[in-house]
Amino acid sequence: MTLIVPGAPTRRGLLLGAGAATGVLAAPGLLRAAPSSIDPFTLGVASGDPLPDGFVLWTRLAPDPLAKDGLGGMSSAVTVDWEVARDPAMRQTAAKGRAVADAGFVHSVHVEVGGLQPDRPYWYRFTAMGAQSPVGRARTAPRPGARMDRLKVVACSCAHYELGWFSAYRHMAAEEPDLAFFLGDYIYEYSYRGDRGRENVRLHERDEDVVDLAGFRVRYAQYKTDPDLQALHAVAPSVVTWDDHEVQNDYSGAWSQDVSISQTQMLARRAAGYRAFYEHMPLRRHHRPNGPDMRIYRRMGFGDLADITVLDGRQYRSIQACASPTSRRGHVAKDAECANRTDPTRTMLGAAQEDWLYKGFKRGGARWTVIAQDLLVAPALEHAPGGGFGYFTDSWDGYAANRDRMLAALAGSKARNPVFFGGDVHCFFNTDLKADFADPAARTIATEFVTTAVTQNPPAGSPYAGVMARSPHIKFFDETTRGYIGFEIGRDRMETRFQAISDRADPKATVRTLQRFVVEDGKPGAVAV
Ligand code: FE
Ligand code: CA
Repeated sequence: MTLIVPGAPTRRGLLLGAGAATGVLAAPGLLRAAPSSIDPFTLGVASGDPLPDGFVLWTRLAPDPLAKDGLGGMSSAVTVDWEVARDPAMRQTAAKGRAVADAGFVHSVHVEVGGLQPDRPYWYRFTAMGAQSPVGRARTAPRPGARMDRLKVVACSCAHYELGWFSAYRHMAAEEPDLAFFLGDYIYEYSYRGDRGRENVRLHERDEDVVDLAGFRVRYAQYKTDPDLQALHAVAPSVVTWDDHEVQNDYSGAWSQDVSISQTQMLARRAAGYRAFYEHMPLRRHHRPNGPDMRIYRRMGFGDLADITVLDGRQYRSIQACASPTSRRGHVAKDAECANRTDPTRTMLGAAQEDWLYKGFKRGGARWTVIAQDLLVAPALEHAPGGGFGYFTDSWDGYAANRDRMLAALAGSKARNPVFFGGDVHCFFNTDLKADFADPAARTIATEFVTTAVTQNPPAGSPYAGVMARSPHIKFFDETTRGYIGFEIGRDRMETRFQAISDRADPKATVRTLQRFVVEDGKPGAVAV
């Protein structure tokens, strides 16, 4: 095991290698050394949220990315030139402009490029402080309703920096997808130390929990120095949402898992986490946080082929079900002890997001309705401590009435071929989302795929062992592998692969397909092939 200590040189040099493998960053001269000795582009580049005429471009200037004050070694405002080209060698300019990076948003830039042609690839780069960034690739969406034949996506979640190398990200980049979904737990606010740190391959810069803005900024910066993550962001537009660890384990709305933390304190922590999230992600300016509030649920269209709905499963939640006076942590609750879990007045998404979501379903649209969110949707019975079975209160099982409302809204709507993608559980799941989960013969309303973790541990004590037999709607389950999902949407079918990396502790880990699935147009539920 190689232990990389904070402050040691990163593997940034590998970005070139990763780019060469994907053919994206490899054009000669594009990664030439900056004329100045200062490199402000230590965190890479990213694009996101494509529209028919453009996308968002992101970078953050940070010549000293791990500076303890979180400012990346920057102070005054700096102009950043950006350019978008039709070719990877950046010769045919399609758009260019200038942005200002200042300390307010920690020298990040979020450029909303418009005026481009629909449904084609573009390449982009930034120039600032006498240095040039690596070249990234983005693409525009087709016009609304325009024919699209194929959309290739990769999806991931749960990347703890200390527990493994980001080989999953490297293999996702090598697939050269059209989009990359980041479904939450992009960072972890806590570190593994002592006995729990036995499997660490590298260390967070700080070992205490991140609770403030400087801490979150350093945490994002450290993750983003990873060359495999940089390669993934550079190869395709990202579509991001968050889960709990972008703020704190198992938080719900304004409630910390820890009963000693007041709602006021929790909202201050949430404001710091959300602000740092915005600063480090390719999101449009209208997503800018306002204190502890930041709207990230949104929708994007890909011609007549796919509508992508991105949900926020954290910000608007009711308090955790059956929270005790000593803990609001997610836990396995037996039905006899937790009627609260199915209380219809409780919500996962919040009234405004639910209303927005169901109106979207009602309108319908493209052939495939893709819902990108953070969690396992299907009920998943698991072993309860001390014997018996229960349901985990932090996932959709803790907000069962909201799940019922969502699936009922979908069932009565024009939304075609609904497919949910989620993460959080650190296992692969394929499920049928049913009109009635108690009845195996009930109608399947939607298909669900859940990705395992990029590096995070499987759930302790194999709580889902035996879950398959008791939950016939769960058609595939694996807790033994780390990896990601790759899927390709076609006109008549969606093909999905559960991709497993060989070893999170191996920086050169290989990848294999653990299982393939097909979903046919008009037939909800995946078939393993
Ligand atoms: Fe996680
Ligand atoms: Ca989580």
